[in-house]
Amino acid sequence: MTTMTCPICENKIELPDGAKLGHRVTCPHCFAQLALYKNNNQNVLACAMCKNPTFDPAECGECERRREKKSIIEEGKL
Ligand SMILES: [Zn+2]
Repeated sequence: MTTMTCPICENKIELPDGAKLGHRVTCPHCFAQLALYKNNNQNVLACAMCKNPTFDPAECGECERRREKKSIIEEGKL
């Protein structure tokens, strides 16, 4: 088990051993959609949508939440 830090709420997130780059995980604390990236030779968690390992956490979290809300609304319409 590898423990990483959520870039948005800074709580610990456990990743399974052997998680590959691009592995997606939902933060159990703030429900951000995250993915595993490599930045400066280090594995980091960042937004699964932005695909940018050096995103602005606050801005990214907002963007993610809006997307989620939108998809829930769209699903509700179907
Ligand atoms: Zn979080």
